[in-house]
Amino acid sequence: MSKYKPELEHVSRNCWDVYASAADRKALAACADGYMRFLSVCKTERETVDYILAAAKAAGFSEQLGAKSKAYARVQRGKTILLARRGRRPLGEGFRLIGAHVDTPRIDLKQHPLYEDSDLGLMKTHYYGGIRKYQWLARELALHGVVVKKDGSVVKVMVGEDLGDPVLTITDLLPHLAQKQVEQKVSDAFEAEKLNAVVAHEPSGAGDTKRLKDKDRVKGRVLELLHRRYGITESDLFSAELQLVPAGPARNVGLDSSMIGGYGHDDRSCVFAALEALLAEKTPEHTQFALFWDKEEIGSEGATGAQSLFFEYAVQDILDAWSPKDRLPEVFRRGMAISADVNAAVDPDHLDVFEKRNAAYMGYGPCFNKFTGHRGKVGANDAHPEYVAYLRGILDKAGVPWQMAELGKVDLGGGGTVAKFLAVYGMDVIDMGPAVLSMHSPFEVLGKADLYATVLAFRAFFKS
Ligand code: MN
Ligand code: MN
Repeated sequence: MSKYKPELEHVSRNCWDVYASAADRKALAACADGYMRFLSVCKTERETVDYILAAAKAAGFSEQLGAKSKAYARVQRGKTILLARRGRRPLGEGFRLIGAHVDTPRIDLKQHPLYEDSDLGLMKTHYYGGIRKYQWLARELALHGVVVKKDGSVVKVMVGEDLGDPVLTITDLLPHLAQKQVEQKVSDAFEAEKLNAVVAHEPSGAGDTKRLKDKDRVKGRVLELLHRRYGITESDLFSAELQLVPAGPARNVGLDSSMIGGYGHDDRSCVFAALEALLAEKTPEHTQFALFWDKEEIGSEGATGAQSLFFEYAVQDILDAWSPKDRLPEVFRRGMAISADVNAAVDPDHLDVFEKRNAAYMGYGPCFNKFTGHRGKVGANDAHPEYVAYLRGILDKAGVPWQMAELGKVDLGGGGTVAKFLAVYGMDVIDMGPAVLSMHSPFEVLGKADLYATVLAFRAFFKS
């Protein structure tokens, strides 16, 4: 019998053990603090793109593209952005791309939102992305978005973030009257058409006896308020994108403050990590792209989603400016990409939905998903083992802890990302990101050590 050889076995490393030195802990805390500030002010795709553009410009990126430019930013409709940092080698030798998404599940207002019922002013909604509806009831919601007037002027709306601001809320049924509801299936008990936000209560012209018989006085007063504050009328709401999001800043979670609770770790943790990594690497070997998409949560559709031709057109323009002799198909074929997106962390209250040997654990660093998709890998990008081996080598060399997992038990569900829309060009691409708890809820939970390891992993990839 040969002797047991422990070195042959794979052992996952806990990030807190890896980053235990005082210097590492200081950097880890600074990273978490920066991320919490970012997460607290970036709640919509537009706000996130504005933030990224401002940070990139401060770091020397320009929206002008030329033969001599080194750092280029291109925005698509205010909701998708590409940052490109020129490498020493020509584009024909490939690039390093990290793509993440800036949109997050939320509750949008309908285009005919405002009405009055039972002396309450209300707004109709249509949720965006995969939400568990009951999680959005009886809590503080902020209203973010834009209203575009017929003259083309854009009115920005943000109500509910300052402590002095009012918030909106969607009411829930009291337990005393929920006897019938609690026996229903969850899918039947919560209807989208009951997700109506309470926005007002005081009638217009209060105290004026001549107006007592007027109809919809509460709605009327809301319109007066909107007109006074924003100069808009009810028909301006047709050309608006208004979103209800959880109000308030990101918070420390745990008695040890080892985690961050907030709205939109999916996928703004990856957005933040990719941006940090890109801005840290000033003179790369290969050209670097950081690509931040909208519409991932609803299938990457539309002019700002990953299925659009935005990226392809942008790379063609960059190629024409920086490396006109290289051909686009070759650039794409030699490209390497990370589809940066979060994974589901094993939840001790729901162990039954995970296959523990192939699940992601909080604390063990960013997680590779070789494939996504659902039940039989349907709809999956399946990263090539040659590429997985290459990336393993990079991360191990950089000393960054990482893990390999898939999303939940095979028969239970699954999910998709933008990876397959990059893979169509022939480039190497794999999904990777930190594992979070309560994904798609108004208060997702992310480990600070995982965030830090993700930033370092992305830096190592960009540098490779
Ligand atoms: Mn995601
Ligand atoms: Mn998602």
